[in-house]
Amino acid sequence: MNTLIENMKGCLMRVDCFTVGAFTVNTYLLTDEATGHAAIVDTGETMELVQRLQTLDPAPDIRMILLTHTHLDHAGALSYLQDEWDVPTYMPAKDRPLFETLPMQGRMFGMPHLDRPCGRIDHEIYDGFSVPLGETTLRFLSTPGHTPGQGCWHDDADIIVGDTLFAGSIGRTDFPLSDPSLAVESLRRLMNLPGAMRVHSGHGPMTTIDTELRTNPFLGYIRRERNIPGPPGFSWAPGT
Ligand SMILES: [Zn+2]
Repeated sequence: MNTLIENMKGCLMRVDCFTVGAFTVNTYLLTDEATGHAAIVDTGETMELVQRLQTLDPAPDIRMILLTHTHLDHAGALSYLQDEWDVPTYMPAKDRPLFETLPMQGRMFGMPHLDRPCGRIDHEIYDGFSVPLGETTLRFLSTPGHTPGQGCWHDDADIIVGDTLFAGSIGRTDFPLSDPSLAVESLRRLMNLPGAMRVHSGHGPMTTIDTELRTNPFLGYIRRERNIPGPPGFSWAPGT
């Protein structure tokens, strides 16, 4: 029994959510309980996340910054965070073209005062990439559609999905560089994960894979494909 508990100890990761900025984006602090090593996932577009992390006691032992995708609200404060925590930063490789637009994304969304510098990327990563955080292994699952590189960071119990999936909704696929047909396939992949997995979205409340698979109106096509009872949902892209 003790051995079991010891083994499990290394697998435990704490997930703290910080909702920040004009877009009320959810950013996350992932902490490996065994070592205290921590990772920031996504940034907001203001100094707010820096300020909130600075007030934590004890101070978090931040070892890396991970991005789900590079819209302004998820990556716009990267340089502010890096001024405070000079740690390796990981970005989905296929979001590079979008990342390069950060200095003009504010203007693109009608808010030129929110144009931001790009910050520094140390590692461009692909589907299946994994990185140790203390005794936890964080894995990257590529789920493009909302953006070309949009992806999710997860361990065995929790997944940070960015704007891939929300409680009762999905990320928009009508932005420049979005691709609804990719989102259709990405959501299928996401719904192959264990049902009990906790889903932490880029906006709105936490949910689970199973809850969304049974009830999300955008996932009716997956329910039909898998003979899962639930509302029919509506067609939002070819094949759904
Ligand atoms: Zn987004």
